[in-house]
Amino acid sequence: MSGYRGRFAPSPTGLLHAGSLVAALASWLDARAQGGAWLVRIEDVDLPRCPLGAADEILRQLAACGLVSDEMPLWQSQRGNRYQAALERLIERGWAYPCGCTRKDIAQALALRGDTRARHGELVYPGNCRPANGGLKGKPARAWRLDIATVSADLGLPAVLHWSDRRLGAQQQDVGSEVGDFVLRRADGLWAYQLAVVVDDAEQGITDIVRGADLADNSARQILLQQALGYPRPRYLHTPLVCGANGEKLSKQNGAAAVDLSDPLAALEAAAGLLGLSARAGATRQSLERWTREWAGLYNSVP
Ligand code: GLU
Repeated sequence: MSGYRGRFAPSPTGLLHAGSLVAALASWLDARAQGGAWLVRIEDVDLPRCPLGAADEILRQLAACGLVSDEMPLWQSQRGNRYQAALERLIERGWAYPCGCTRKDIAQALALRGDTRARHGELVYPGNCRPANGGLKGKPARAWRLDIATVSADLGLPAVLHWSDRRLGAQQQDVGSEVGDFVLRRADGLWAYQLAVVVDDAEQGITDIVRGADLADNSARQILLQQALGYPRPRYLHTPLVCGANGEKLSKQNGAAAVDLSDPLAALEAAAGLLGLSARAGATRQSLERWTREWAGLYNSVP
């Protein structure tokens, strides 16, 4: 086995659909093409939104497609103490601060400044509760946020972060101004995806992140958090998205159908086609072997 460690990290808010199967297959093929390990991580950090049994059903769907985790799957709902420890490290450095703003407070502060920036429907946090701006000013603490300006100043990081994606090429983002101080722990007490994913990828020794392009925009935030927590930076590859008949990205939110377990090979073949791979080559195992060789030809040079 090489030192490569990849993962597929579904949120069990619903079952695996054609779109999530593409990410599962791509991450599996990349791990196999490089003689590495492939891990499944259940991202059930938002437990109230995860129907009972969905995660087990996802594991069954994956197994029916011949995709089986090389290690026991990790469940984020059991790892709150690890996320707490990471948050405490950030607080000790003065890099995380409590925020007392509601969504309305944020919208009002932005409107006062004539600032209408939003990113994927999320308002860019204007920094009201940042310590440099006077902190909570008597408001009760709700969420915890990363103090991007302080982290960047203390670590000597440039405002614009540059990284490379193995499929999308050179990428850049000014997280401070394009996203703002993002949430690490939510007002409802749940851990934010950004913190959980960064802690888990590091603690699982993940070297390569292969996932859907809808998540590409999170990479800069995650790289910044990796730097703040002293973690190594994994390589990134974001796969093309599957669109439904209406041209929109397939997702659980817009009712994507679960992968049909009566014909898993047909589902795999469709996912392989989207990744630019050829038709099936016999049974599932033979097909996966052929696609692994083809994948290696497409992406074997890890920069
Ligand atoms: N849990 C996320 C999702 O299902 C994926 C996280 C990741 O791959 O970084 O959308």
